[in-house]
Amino acid sequence: MSIVNVENVIEASYFLAAVLFIFGLKRMSSPVTARGGIVWAGAGMVVATLVTFLNPNMGNYPLMMAAIGIGGILAWVSGKRVAMTDMPQMIALYNGMGGGAAAAISAVELFSGTDHGLTFSVLAVLGGLIGSVSFSGSLIAFAKLQGLMKKTFRFPGQQFFNIILLVATLGLAGYIVTQHSDINIIVIFFALALLLGVTMTLPIGGADMPVVISLYNALTGLAVAFEGFVLENAAMIIAGTVVGAAGSLLTQLMAKAMNRSLANVLFSGFGDTVGEASAVEGSMKPIEATDVGVMMAFADKVLIVPGYGMAVAQAQHKVWELTQLLRKRGVDVKFAIHPVAGRMPGHMNVLLAEAGVPYDIIYDQDEINSEFATADVALIIGANDVVNPVARTDPASPIYGMPILNADYAKNVIVIKRGQGAGFSGIENALFFLDHTRMLYGDGQEMASELIQAVKTL
Ligand code: NDP
Repeated sequence: MSIVNVENVIEASYFLAAVLFIFGLKRMSSPVTARGGIVWAGAGMVVATLVTFLNPNMGNYPLMMAAIGIGGILAWVSGKRVAMTDMPQMIALYNGMGGGAAAAISAVELFSGTDHGLTFSVLAVLGGLIGSVSFSGSLIAFAKLQGLMKKTFRFPGQQFFNIILLVATLGLAGYIVTQHSDINIIVIFFALALLLGVTMTLPIGGADMPVVISLYNALTGLAVAFEGFVLENAAMIIAGTVVGAAGSLLTQLMAKAMNRSLANVLFSGFGDTVGEASAVEGSMKPIEATDVGVMMAFADKVLIVPGYGMAVAQAQHKVWELTQLLRKRGVDVKFAIHPVAGRMPGHMNVLLAEAGVPYDIIYDQDEINSEFATADVALIIGANDVVNPVARTDPASPIYGMPILNADYAKNVIVIKRGQGAGFSGIENALFFLDHTRMLYGDGQEMASELIQAVKTL
């Protein structure tokens, strides 16, 4: 085969890979086809990786094989072992690796000192900057989600420091583009970009994490696309653009779910509180499963609000069994899903789909919120922040302004949780102290089983 033919094969294969990425992503938009979508996109990645070996300009085969071997084994083992509840930190970690890889490509190109023209340098430097920020920022996000570090970390003048750091990094980027490579300057540029990712992410915590995770996802895509231009690799350009665009949309959705503007997210200040949050007064009132069983069995309408605790307890199958029992008795049961419930976008939808809950009884926040006022029972299973009314009432609260599910408007509120544990944002939930709220203490799955028994005996 002549070189021209090999190049045609490579280009055609990259095109095939891009088509597989795009169709894979399309299939991921519904829980029914999502699993297949992952396989399609994975196949695209295999094609793109294998065909790269045909490139006649390629060298360093042993190093490449070793990297693919080590990376592949680590990813396979960790992917098999990871618990569903630890998935968000895994995503943050892999996302960071993507950003880091893009930054590494940029570093190699810049260190090589070859002058390929202004556009090339601009793209290489931009990809390096964004990739580095995404890499170190995602690692901090991973550490926070994994509980390895405090959720928020601030020091006086942090925002001012970040602005100075950003300006200095951009200044160096400009210098590298115009004056070309002095190795020391390039090293300092990457060090500052990495530091920027760290200091940008340190103050962001609690309920704002979904925004930051999807933002880094978008940035990684963008960095990969820029480096795709640098390497003239069509598959990287397309895959990076697709991830960048999908990540940007997700960031907007998450920001909307938190009621934060994108500018507010990008230029920080989010997660900031105004003074001390007010203390919640009153007491939590426990209830027995048998009483809750009666309450629900004779209700007209029950709205179920699942949260992170349902994922921890793996209670989705029992919750669906309970739902079926109630529906057989003529109770109108619906699921109310908050966009940031759980620990990753779509977390609750995935769990409910896995349990076989039909989509037509699963409602998004905007569709269902007006129905709480007419519900006899709001059954909250392992949700906390997403139903905390202080988001509406207390401007000093870190979650103030975040739209919540209006569970407190229901005639009766039942909360299943193990004890006094706070939600991800770490704040007290005023809903648990309301007069019409009762606490059903226990593990989500065990309590759902007890409710099933209670309803069956009626
Ligand atoms: P929360 O994290 O606010 O609360 C979960 C509750 O579940 C806890 O109060 C805990 O109380 C209870 N719980 C834990 N384990 C069990 C169990 N085995 N059985 C019963 N209950 C249990 O969950 P929400 O879903 O309401 O809110 C999600 C939070 O996570 C938001 O703040 C969101 O911003 C954040 N986040 C979301 C991401 C996303 O993309 N969706 C990503 C990162 C963060 P107890 O210990 O007493 O049982």
